[in-house]
Amino acid sequence: MPISSKLPQVGTTIFTTMSKLATDYGAINLSQGFPGFDCDPALVDLVTKYMKAGHNQYAPMSGVPVLRERIAEKTRLIYGVELNSETEVTVVSGATEAIYAAVTAVVKQGDEVILFDPAYDCYAPAIELNGGIPIYVPLVMPDFSVDWDKVNSAISDKTRLILVNTPHNPSGYVWTPFDLATLAELIQDRDILVISDEVYEHIIFDGRTHLSLLTHPALRERTFVCGSFGKTFHVTGWKIGYCLAPPRLSDEFRKIHQFLTFSTATPMQYALADYLAKPNHYLNLPTYYQQKRDLFCEGLKTTAFEFIPAQGSFFQMVSYGHLSQEPDKELAVRLTKEIGVASIPISVFFSDQRDHKILRFCFAKEDEELMKALDKLQNLDL
Ligand code: PMP
Ligand code: GLN
Repeated sequence: MPISSKLPQVGTTIFTTMSKLATDYGAINLSQGFPGFDCDPALVDLVTKYMKAGHNQYAPMSGVPVLRERIAEKTRLIYGVELNSETEVTVVSGATEAIYAAVTAVVKQGDEVILFDPAYDCYAPAIELNGGIPIYVPLVMPDFSVDWDKVNSAISDKTRLILVNTPHNPSGYVWTPFDLATLAELIQDRDILVISDEVYEHIIFDGRTHLSLLTHPALRERTFVCGSFGKTFHVTGWKIGYCLAPPRLSDEFRKIHQFLTFSTATPMQYALADYLAKPNHYLNLPTYYQQKRDLFCEGLKTTAFEFIPAQGSFFQMVSYGHLSQEPDKELAVRLTKEIGVASIPISVFFSDQRDHKILRFCFAKEDEELMKALDKLQNLDL
């Protein structure tokens, strides 16, 4: 029986492909974004404690109350925003679920959704599976900032949603007060909602401040903010995230979440709640990652690549178009097989797969591993 695919263009993601290639060739894996070091053992001890204490059955659908309260406390502390943990905070199984559930909650057949190009790979499939139409607005090279005239031109009577990502994957671009204010102004008299993917909220450099869309009162009214503990506490394998949204949006969000996963791993939620009680566990993150970004960028200076240091996220993009016209996908494979360093070719993040001769490296690795990778990159012949 022939099966008509709902996502005919979609294959295996580049993250799976490149991580497998790295394993097959014994290369240093700077492709898929995950920390190459373990989380704090105290966090693992907390999970064990709660498992042993019998917290092994379904959590409440919207998340265990103490974790929702701690997320609200964190939001108050760092953004000065008051959230009602009962009605505005939902714990989910990773930001991927949060984004899928938020899109599903509000996008109907024929609705247009504005996306920035390049974009993280899970946005467009979520829109298309819900009958929505992705409308791409190109970001401005080389820093991947937003061209607000282009956003304005992309808005139509059918626009239902804008999907924002700051700090941005893959470029690391961080939204400015102007970006927030302009977005608010553009949509204020329109029936347009926002999803803000803020999974790298705590990974931000050079004294910048992450501007959550929650901090803008008009945007807060119409935004689903999606976060992830995977990035913040080095536990990407736990797949625990959250969605912060006003009650009427959270109500619709929860209708989807309850049939997608219903609830999220219970002992981890209790452990994360305890761990969040000490703000230093996330306040130290910018310093921690800035040292890695600086180390990586310092080493990159002695390679053939050109780059602008990332403003945020744990990714560093590099370009090589000044030296070679080799397609980025081919170079990423060759680098893995011949040089022993895996990266992500960023053409895969573009709606038209356009090749700008840019690779993305993840620097969330032990310093020693980063230095080994930098050493190998010296041998690259472009
Ligand atoms: N958004 C962005 C921009 C990401 O980079 C990632 C994954 N690294 C996610 C969402 C998904 O997060 P999670 O693993 O919590 O589902
Ligand atoms: N977000 C990670 C990245 O950009 C990948 C996560 C995944 O493999 N789905 O590399």
